[in-house]
Amino acid sequence: MKRLFIFLLTAFSLSAFSQNTDSLVLRKIFGNAITNYEAYNNLGYLCSNTPGRLMGSENSIKALKYLKTYLEGLNCDTVYLQEYKADAWKHNSSRAKLVSTGENYGLSITALGPSGSTPEGGITAEVIEVNGIQELKQMKREDVEGKIVFFNRPVNPTFINTFPMYGDAVDQRARGPQAAAEMGAVAALVRSVTTLNDDNPHTGNTHLSGRRLPAAGIGIVSADRLSNSLKKDKNLKVELNIDTEELNDITTYNLIAEIKGTEKPDEVILLGGHIDSWFNAPGAHDDGAGVVQTADVIRIFKQLNLKNKRTIRFVAFMDEEYSQSGSKVYASSIDTLKEKIIFALESDAGGFAPEGFTMRAKKEHFEQISGFQPLLSPYGITYIRKGGAGVDIYPLKRFGIPLVEFRTSSQRYFDLHHSANDSFDKVNFRELQLGTTCITGLVYLVDKNGL
Ligand SMILES: [Zn+2]
Repeated sequence: MKRLFIFLLTAFSLSAFSQNTDSLVLRKIFGNAITNYEAYNNLGYLCSNTPGRLMGSENSIKALKYLKTYLEGLNCDTVYLQEYKADAWKHNSSRAKLVSTGENYGLSITALGPSGSTPEGGITAEVIEVNGIQELKQMKREDVEGKIVFFNRPVNPTFINTFPMYGDAVDQRARGPQAAAEMGAVAALVRSVTTLNDDNPHTGNTHLSGRRLPAAGIGIVSADRLSNSLKKDKNLKVELNIDTEELNDITTYNLIAEIKGTEKPDEVILLGGHIDSWFNAPGAHDDGAGVVQTADVIRIFKQLNLKNKRTIRFVAFMDEEYSQSGSKVYASSIDTLKEKIIFALESDAGGFAPEGFTMRAKKEHFEQISGFQPLLSPYGITYIRKGGAGVDIYPLKRFGIPLVEFRTSSQRYFDLHHSANDSFDKVNFRELQLGTTCITGLVYLVDKNGL
């Protein structure tokens, strides 16, 4: 009995001791992250010098080169570009104006990817406003044919977290233009999926097959104005000019850097974000922030001499926005190399104040990882729960790897997302680096304990 008591006491103090040591290491990580400006300055560089980093663009390559040089300067064990080829799409210009007997004004629009181009001289056509795909499908083909379909359902602001709000609203952008094309429309305009009532148009992906319909996002102020004008004159016309290009077999890259583990170098902890951004966005929160945060994990491990037991690998994925080619190529390379990735983490919810982590993992991994939450709570992690994993690590699901996504306060994310508003001045240094602390902290705990 006495022996058992002593054993339990020792086990308890050892675990308390280890918790205490971990807290001290996390405090050190925070102390370093919150006093070091390299991640923040890297983000400033990406936004100012390489905005609009859509796959296939010059800026997407310039951004990769900048980051590669930065990582080489950190003395990583490996830094390299993973080359591949994929199709891309290029935006040249988008313009629209209303032509009516009574009124004449410009509309703020931006093409959706991969919108087709309008013919030489543009399209001038009547507009039919709908509240979503369902309403469109109930119409007669002859009422839609030859017209511009204007999807004008606003987002539902009563969601507390804006990510499900976005999920609820995005169908008319993702599938509306193709539905319009199938009913003989000549173009589509889609109310921007945003929480901000300004006139910055937001772009994003739309699924178009066959002949690519010209399709554009329209700013909220312009959408409301157009809707009001339609109430006065339902025969009004909109003139639309969209110029885009399809690019085939473009050479591009993922960027990979790693620091080898001291004890189990064959076990890999993977983390990253996506380097590309839409053509109209500086890509500060989406996803420059995620890229510089996860690259900063490498810097912090090096600078604090944390001596990771397992290999920590950073990946800047290319092409999350357009066709997710980078993440697919990366996952297939894991297949080929038969590598043992034990954990993958993505940061792609903006560089806002941290809130938690969501995870796709089997029960035992979930229980172990969620057990780290109390240690991370001083830095803002209020939950580690089951939920989505990021788009870029999602293809790794087939290997049964625990997939973790970093979550932040979502209230401002969709003010900026996929628009010119997603600029560096919207990023708060402390929020960004609190996020870096949480990510580095979780990587430290996973590395130390294994999975
Ligand atoms: Zn993103």
